[in-house]
Amino acid sequence: MTTHHTRMLILGSGPAGLSAAIYGARAGMKPILVQGIQPGGQLMTTTDVENYPGFADVIQGPWLMEQMQKQAEHVGTTLMYDTIVAVDLSQRPFRLTGDSGDVYEGEVLIIATGAQAKWLGLDSEEALKGKGVSACATCDGFFYRGKKVAVIGGGNTAVEEALYLTNHSPDVTLIHRRSSLRAERILQERLFAHKGVTVLWNKEVDQFVDGGGNAGLVAIDLVDTVTGEKSRLETEGGFVAIGHHPATELFRGHLKLDEDHYLWVETGSTRTSVPGVFACGDVMDKIYRQAVTAAGTGCMAALDAEKFLAEAEFELAEAAE
Ligand code: FAD
Ligand code: NAP
Repeated sequence: MTTHHTRMLILGSGPAGLSAAIYGARAGMKPILVQGIQPGGQLMTTTDVENYPGFADVIQGPWLMEQMQKQAEHVGTTLMYDTIVAVDLSQRPFRLTGDSGDVYEGEVLIIATGAQAKWLGLDSEEALKGKGVSACATCDGFFYRGKKVAVIGGGNTAVEEALYLTNHSPDVTLIHRRSSLRAERILQERLFAHKGVTVLWNKEVDQFVDGGGNAGLVAIDLVDTVTGEKSRLETEGGFVAIGHHPATELFRGHLKLDEDHYLWVETGSTRTSVPGVFACGDVMDKIYRQAVTAAGTGCMAALDAEKFLAEAEFELAEAAE
């Protein structure tokens, strides 16, 4: 077992963690970043990225993450292939234990452990991910411009995604398993008023239908949750919008979470409920969930953490005089 000590410890190697690392390293913090089981984060699971600023041509998610990782290393970040399995945030330096048995001590801690979309769990969904089935309309909606698309879910995310998709598609169907939506009233009103949206009530997805060859998704087979009747909806894009799981289990009982289990942060900052612990990216953001916003809050977390350390070290120096 080895103990690694750093002024700035970062968890997560998605856009949030790596952006925090770039800022932290350039401020001389010599950060250690623990990458977790998905080095590079969620963008490693996608292909085309067209909305990350700075690239006139379409780029690939894994390539973008490789570049961010190299940039973080070039400016002085140490990347560790480990996953944190236990945390002690009761005193500074914070002590975290990796799956390897190694211990990581950080004078400040930046948490960027992200979130994962919930899926329906169907084999056909797994087979057609990236070939018509997606969990992010903001990311992938543009690829379906002019085509028929469907959104599955009845919460705020589903309704917002359906409304967003009307920017690209003349024919959007919202599929919901009950006869009323969970989404806020104002969003519901906007949805119902939109001529380009049809709502299918009391319907569950039975399977996503593969057109064979390179066709990808061509239809969704549905089952009525009341009558059991089966039907087919022809569509080329199926957006699953049934919620996300933020990766916060590790911090339960150590840090304040919000009602949806995201890490709570003070409004307008990345400060969590424990001084010296900061959170950025999808683990604290249930609204935007984009690479660029994750990177933006990663930058904020590094700046907040640096300021915290400078103040703490100044107070220590004053007390010693
Ligand atoms: P993540 O990318 O989720 O990274 C989380 C990191 O935390 C991972 O490295 C993981 O290994 C690590 N981690 C988790 N637990 C631990 C632990 N216990 N110890 C150590 N490390 C841990 N956004 C866009 O802007 N444009 C797009 O085109 C786009 N396309 C997408 C396509 C797909 C298929 C998906 C799934 C998402 C897409 N997104 C897109 C959303 C974007 O990927 C996320 O908003 C972004 O990755 C969030 O970054 P993050 O750093 O907060 O977290
Ligand atoms: P959510 O509120 O949990 O809604 C999930 C929806 O998916 C529900 O309608 C649920 O149906 C449905 N669903 C869940 N599992 C399903 C399954 N297996 N099959 C079919 N349908 C399923 O999730 P969310 O919409 O992502 O929102 C999460 C949180 O973020 C909420 O607090 C929300 O208010 C917030 N949010 C806010 C904004 C905003 O303020 N603009 C935007 C996005 C999200 P039932 O209704 O039948 O349970």
